[in-house]
Amino acid sequence: MTQAPAAVRGAAIHCDAVVHLYPNAGGDVVALRGVDLDVEGGTAIALLGPSGSGKSTLLALLAGLLRPSSGHVLVGSHDLTRCSNRQLLELRGNEISLMVQEPMRNLLGFATAVQNIEFAQRGVRRRRRQPLPFGPEQLLERLGMAEVAHDTVAQLSGGEQQRVAIAAAAAVAPSLLLLDEPTSELDRISRDRVLELVLTVHRELGTTLVVVTHDPAVASAMPRSVSIRDGRIGAEGRSGEEYAVVGRDGSVQLPSDVLGWIPAGTLLRVHRHSAGVDLRSPELESDGD
Ligand code: ADP
Repeated sequence: MTQAPAAVRGAAIHCDAVVHLYPNAGGDVVALRGVDLDVEGGTAIALLGPSGSGKSTLLALLAGLLRPSSGHVLVGSHDLTRCSNRQLLELRGNEISLMVQEPMRNLLGFATAVQNIEFAQRGVRRRRRQPLPFGPEQLLERLGMAEVAHDTVAQLSGGEQQRVAIAAAAAVAPSLLLLDEPTSELDRISRDRVLELVLTVHRELGTTLVVVTHDPAVASAMPRSVSIRDGRIGAEGRSGEEYAVVGRDGSVQLPSDVLGWIPAGTLLRVHRHSAGVDLRSPELESDGD
């Protein structure tokens, strides 16, 4: 980077009882069933969970692309649920940057890699009236793509397109950067370069980072992970420690590996003590005798 990075204020996230339904002729699909989530501004989290658990829906809500069926979504000082469509468009242009899955949905196929990034930066630079910290060529070089910087994006491989899409999303120095499976098409070397770039943006600029991923290497590079299952946040990982999250209704999701030996429907006895509760299966206890 040639210019000193200008700090942005990483946007805090606050989701309050967020429910999202997709209307469907055969019955509505409930994608999120009451998500409560707080992320401090300037932090980085990985969003984990099986396919269909609601991760992309949550990202689309955080980007203001969808409106929740109920509940509130706040990004920085903006309550996205109360913003007009125009305000949401402005937020997406200025502060929130989303890279969706399938790289070409983020890109102009007929333009070159550099032009795609310039296009992403153009409006933001004008509105902020100050230079952006990353130039297109530097970003592409950091991602090992200097040689294809002036190639038309439609002619690039899937992995190269993915890296251009990430560069374009990061290039605007957003206060919130949302990436949906950014390394799904990449080999290990490219994945490491992408990780380094997004963590640089996060650390040097203060950008809040939310990365949906199935890649354990990406997840472990984030200081905090949040796991969604069946439209609910069930677990968190912080500094390598695993935590279950107590839902508003008192529900707690057991880790999926535990479900292998304590299946749904198992009766667990609740033992209260000063540090919390233990859940014990009388059957398993007697098996162990
Ligand atoms: P993930 O990102 O974890 O794979 P999604 O947020 O894409 O999960 O999907 C959550 C649920 O919502 C799934 O059951 C999925 O089939 C459903 N879903 C997602 N998008 C739509 C849509 N546009 N219309 C109807 N159902 C949808």
